[in-house]
Amino acid sequence: MKKKSGIILALDVDSKKEALRIAGEVSDLVDAIKVGYPLILPTGIRFLRELKKFGNPIIADFKVADIPIISQKICQLAQNNGADYVIVHGFVGEDVIKACSEVAEIFVVAEMSHPGSKDFLTTGAERIAEIARRYAYGIVAPATRPERIKILRKTVGDLIIISPGIKAQGAKVGDAIRSGADFEIIGRGIYQASDPREATEEFSKIIGTICI
Ligand code: C5P
Repeated sequence: MKKKSGIILALDVDSKKEALRIAGEVSDLVDAIKVGYPLILPTGIRFLRELKKFGNPIIADFKVADIPIISQKICQLAQNNGADYVIVHGFVGEDVIKACSEVAEIFVVAEMSHPGSKDFLTTGAERIAEIARRYAYGIVAPATRPERIKILRKTVGDLIIISPGIKAQGAKVGDAIRSGADFEIIGRGIYQASDPREATEEFSKIIGTICI
């Protein structure tokens, strides 16, 4: 994934119209577009391909977490419909991660950005990151806990780290990249802004002073 702004747009709006409007406004300012259930359940998986017209890599955030054969099927479906990367949960174990990696380029969720992530995920996150290192393109690590990104960076070496939790969940723009992430995932901070393009330009300026 090429890095220009260091920003991945989380397009969690719930209609085609809104998705096309936001993507149209900011696609040239972001390095990838991440699409999850809030948009794909109402619009259908074929919408992934429609979004490709903006020219950005598409990340299907399906947080896949089933037995290997079913997880692999979901990744294959995402890939057949235009996803360049699929997000898969890591807590489900090595066999699932391996099966998914055989059919798609994957990001593995090591740890999540919300407080509840600490209940179960933090203790296993480094082990997940070790497994991800063998099979994945990258991992997902929380911008809300930059100290965890530093630790996970040591485990994954040069794998790509993408980090959600910016602005709406409390992390400051730049915190994750400063701690070792490659890209920051921003959703509400962009699509709920009164001027999404202006907001993205501001985020990009801040990130640009750190690393680009
Ligand atoms: O709106 P906001 O910027 O908080 O959106 C964060 C995005 O990142 C959402 O799409 C959410 O599903 C996703 N995400 C997350 N924590 C993870 C993995 C993905 O918040 N560990």
